[in-house]
Amino acid sequence: MLKKEFKAESKRLLEMMINSIYTQKEIFLRELISNASDAIDKIYYKALTDDQLVFNKDDYYIRITADKDNRTLTIADTGIGMSQEDLENNLGIIAKSGSLAFKSENEAKDGHNIIGQFGVGFYSAFMVADQVTVISKALGSDQAYRWESEGTDGYTIEPCEKDSIGTEITLKIKENTEDDQYDEYLEEYRLKSIIKKYSDFIRYPIKMDITGHRPKEGGEGEFEEYKEEQTVNSMVPIWRKNKSELTQEDYENFYAEKRYGFDKPLSHVHVKADGAVVYNAILFIPENTPFDYYTKEYEKGLELYSNGVLIMDKCGDLLPDYFSFVKGMVDSEDLSLNISREMLQHDRQLTLIAKNIKSKIKSQLQSLLKDDREKYETFFQAFGRQLKFGVYNDYGANKDTLSDLLMFTSSKEKKLVTLDEYVSRMPEDQKYIYYASGTSVERIEKLPQTEIVADKGYEILYLTDDIDEFAIKMLMNYKEKEFKSVSSGDLGIEADAEDAPSEAEAAENKELFEAMSTVLAGKVKSVKASKRLKSHPVCLTAEGDLSIEMEKVLKAMPN
Ligand code: ADP
Ligand code: MG
Repeated sequence: MLKKEFKAESKRLLEMMINSIYTQKEIFLRELISNASDAIDKIYYKALTDDQLVFNKDDYYIRITADKDNRTLTIADTGIGMSQEDLENNLGIIAKSGSLAFKSENEAKDGHNIIGQFGVGFYSAFMVADQVTVISKALGSDQAYRWESEGTDGYTIEPCEKDSIGTEITLKIKENTEDDQYDEYLEEYRLKSIIKKYSDFIRYPIKMDITGHRPKEGGEGEFEEYKEEQTVNSMVPIWRKNKSELTQEDYENFYAEKRYGFDKPLSHVHVKADGAVVYNAILFIPENTPFDYYTKEYEKGLELYSNGVLIMDKCGDLLPDYFSFVKGMVDSEDLSLNISREMLQHDRQLTLIAKNIKSKIKSQLQSLLKDDREKYETFFQAFGRQLKFGVYNDYGANKDTLSDLLMFTSSKEKKLVTLDEYVSRMPEDQKYIYYASGTSVERIEKLPQTEIVADKGYEILYLTDDIDEFAIKMLMNYKEKEFKSVSSGDLGIEADAEDAPSEAEAAENKELFEAMSTVLAGKVKSVKASKRLKSHPVCLTAEGDLSIEMEKVLKAMPN
């Protein structure tokens, strides 16, 4: 039987691709710049083994030129260029990547900075252009070629003139339509901001003519416009620099530049992981709670870069919910990207990085607690609630990570203390970690239930936040000491024999208690003589698992 080959319907495939792979049109520039950078990288790698070839860094750059009158945008590079055959193969066949081939051919030679792999990025140009012209001269060739295409109708290739080695891609930018704006891709400021956003850390200079204004010579108070070539990208990302070269201010500037927040970061960690998974990260703990932090609108996540190119603005998978306040970025060479390079395949690498980051944040917070108590308390005021939610959610699965980071107000210190501090100063005869709940410290201090515990000289944790007691219930214990509410039935405190209410006392007051029970029917379960009261005549105690405060919270929750 004759077996027929499937033929890709290139035209339709191209249209489909152009319109469905990418969610944002602006990424065409990221793709073309990445290709240009790859092309320069290839010369760089070749020069490593070829004595004839000298790689003089100053000769290699990418140039972006917008011409509003002709509606063209040109991306030129001084990279390796393409021969006629390369143009046929790499631009004529969709999903064919010359860069991927280069990487496997040159495996031995550390080609891992090269970004391309899927062979589709180039076509993203057709999202914003009616026509794309590529003029290229390959390294080692005397002849240049022009490849031209209007997208779906195929392409032409013909010899042409070009002085230097490299590639020049010219996009004829589409006219604005009712639904889509294209003019912006000819605007200097817009192009600059797209470059900054996605390609700031491309390792070669991305040059552009930028308009400036200067006082006109002779003209009083008049200004004139002038153009000046500028390198738009910063090239060396701060996270690749040595920590020893960087100052506190550098990190603060980066935080502000990236608009992670309008505050100053309280603390940061710069991670250079070189183990099972290789990545660089800079993580910040903000000083202030973002205004929408405790709302549904708040979106957690870190910026994710693959080899210096921005892939995702907010990668939520990198942060557990309880550390959702952390801002910053991760850059890794080891990620498996999907075809649009907008999303990641959920892979082992990402999970490993996330796990690693989680423990970095925890140790950062722990050292803050140890070394700068005041800052830690500022942090805890801003985000402590989220940590407590973290303990409560997932049925306490995170309690090992989080219990050391929690703080509660202490009856003794009248300020926030950690559980470790509480336990470390417990007298030997104290069995439990005591806590009392209420809406404020003042109110809790008036609770009759706290009296007997305080009289024993034991410290009490005052739980004033709704979530506190729920979190404590999930923790159950800390360093093998169980938590105990001061209003629970058995406090584990032995009352002096004389103070204990005798059976006789109970019998004596039987009628009184019965009368009280009748009056309070439906409101209390029973009325009893108590041995825990000191200066108060009565108190309420909870019998079940839920304290009175928790019941209040639960009742207040919408169903
Ligand atoms: P990818 O970058 O994933 O390989 P692209 O569609 O972006 O896919 O590009 C296809 C191929 O075209 C590249 O692999 C490369 O071989 C070639 N190419 C594209 N742009 C350039 C350029 N500026 N200089 C040299 N080669 C290029
Ligand atoms: Mg590419």
